[in-house]
Amino acid sequence: MPKQQIHYDVIVIGAGPAGYVSAIRCAQLGLKTACVDNWRNSKLQSSLGGTYLNAGCVSSIALLESAKIYHLLNHEIDSHGIHAENISMDIAQMMQRKDKIIETLSNKIVDIFAHHKISRIHAQAKLLNARQVEITPLDHSAPSIIQAKNIILAAGSSPIDLSCAPIDNEFIIDSTTALSLNSVPKKLGIIGAGVIGLELANIWSRLGSEIILLEAQENFLTLPDQQISREAYRIYTQHGLEMRLGARVVSTKKGHKKVTVEYQDNEGLHCLRVDKLIVASGRKPNTENLAAEEANLMLDENGFVHVDENCRTTLPGVYAIGDLTSLGPMLAHKGIEEGVFVAEQIAGIYAPINYDILPSVIYTEPEIAWVGQTEQALRAIGENIKIGTFPLSAATRSHVMGNPEGLVKIIAHADTDTILGVHIIGAQASELIAEAVLAMEFSACSEDLARTIHAHPTISEALQEAALSLEKRTLHLPVGKLPS
Ligand code: NAD
Repeated sequence: MPKQQIHYDVIVIGAGPAGYVSAIRCAQLGLKTACVDNWRNSKLQSSLGGTYLNAGCVSSIALLESAKIYHLLNHEIDSHGIHAENISMDIAQMMQRKDKIIETLSNKIVDIFAHHKISRIHAQAKLLNARQVEITPLDHSAPSIIQAKNIILAAGSSPIDLSCAPIDNEFIIDSTTALSLNSVPKKLGIIGAGVIGLELANIWSRLGSEIILLEAQENFLTLPDQQISREAYRIYTQHGLEMRLGARVVSTKKGHKKVTVEYQDNEGLHCLRVDKLIVASGRKPNTENLAAEEANLMLDENGFVHVDENCRTTLPGVYAIGDLTSLGPMLAHKGIEEGVFVAEQIAGIYAPINYDILPSVIYTEPEIAWVGQTEQALRAIGENIKIGTFPLSAATRSHVMGNPEGLVKIIAHADTDTILGVHIIGAQASELIAEAVLAMEFSACSEDLARTIHAHPTISEALQEAALSLEKRTLHLPVGKLPS
């Protein structure tokens, strides 16, 4: 039987980016806050930061940085007159570096929690009703109940299981295990050429794996602008990733040392033998067991928590944020903004989020980043648009860096010149997109971007050049070489 009740102003369930940021903002606003999180690292200890920090984005970017250096040393430095011999890789050390980064960042959250006097509870939480949360210690000792005027659900998401490819984390692995392998698989199959599949493919191919991505959809990367997706497809395949589109995996069979994957495409059934198979076929909200049945927390047909535009659930004083809701894509920064938004609402401040201007990034080499609408979506609704593009091969800085792949595309309204979307593939796209986000937040026109002084030489000039190209102008391209 539950043994005690402690009262808070706010209880946050989940300490991923949405949850921990929300807890910190609540505390900054003077609210007595508790944050309950059940993450256990490989040492079975608490580690704040959720999937994003412990087994997702941060791990992925940390490994991609190592993989880029390894690849650079092996393939790209001779032209600089630098010759490296006997390059070797120590995967265990690479993983240790990644784990150290996670530990440092997670400990920082612990420190910020302590500084703001946030109660940190390492336990399994279950919403009992609009005011009460049951917390069960992870050693399964007796649960207790804590109580608050407001409850913020931020329990995140987890990989979708495929019945045709059951995870054993030896041959058929999930994205978490794929970020902790202790050797480089010779031949690596990946189910799903979405964001996660592509990020993992980029890491392991740069470390030496042969990669085959099996993607059920006929079209490659449907979220970004299709011109960018086509360019991405061209570059990735040139870099050695093998992509089989329209290929739906139907069964898998584990052998002694390999796994056989059966997939169906337009031409029929095919077999593929790989050393390891990663399942990266999407994520689902962690709503199973999040609330007691009698709490009557309303979910939609896909298991997302039903919320209004203010992240309010159907229960008074209970909010849901981040990957738990379908109010926008599953992105860490979307969750972070919702965390702040909800904390401020509780404290009586109302500063809503502009979901229309939400940047997306795919951390591959080169990176892909976009904000706003695609050309295809705008044409589909008959919007009168104009388009400017600029190839990074024409930007002085990209050339000097030896990284001239990619392009910047700006879509503006043909009558008002307002920027409606910016799409980038290329080096540092994740950083460049910030300028576009800011421009769009201020309802900038493409002329504003075209007349903004950019340091020369920088990659950011490509944004200015893309805007200039809308006026059939250029600063740095030879006459007659304007991109079409
Ligand atoms: P996703 O939906 O982006 O991609 C999964 C892909 O798997 C889909 O294209 C789907 O068609 C394919 N698929 C499903 N079943 C299949 C089958 N049987 N055979 C072949 N293909 C199959 O999902 P994801 O890549 O797992 O990412 C999940 C979420 O996490 C996304 O919302 C993503 O935006 C987010 N995320 C974002 C980042 C980032 O911001 N960089 C990083 C990681 C994850």
